[in-house]
Amino acid sequence: MLILASGETERHAAGVLSVEEQIELEIRARGELERLRKEATNEEIDPQAVAVDVAIGRLSRLDSMQMEEVRKAATRRRNQRIHELQEALRKMDEGNYGLCEDCGEWIAYVRLEQRPEATLCGDCAR
Ligand SMILES: [Zn+2]
Repeated sequence: MLILASGETERHAAGVLSVEEQIELEIRARGELERLRKEATNEEIDPQAVAVDVAIGRLSRLDSMQMEEVRKAATRRRNQRIHELQEALRKMDEGNYGLCEDCGEWIAYVRLEQRPEATLCGDCAR
């Protein structure tokens, strides 16, 4: 019982990821990548969704330009995340996933759980 308890504590501290944690993070990364790719595909199929609203006259020209900017920014952010998630999956394959690119320390599991593509530990990201 005691051995189990101390093992638990160790597992949750920042350090080498357990096999279960690695699998969990890979599933999360792949799921998120899939979701973002689907989002990008839907946008390609219907890029005029915003323009239709404008044609109806619900938005002024300025509003539509702002919306276009917002949409472009969202697309850039999404492409960036897709790239980062692909990098994370590549690192998982190579077996050097979970190390901070700045200080070389292990990134805490709780942090990777939130952002599987994180390349910096909590301290270096601040
Ligand atoms: Zn660091």
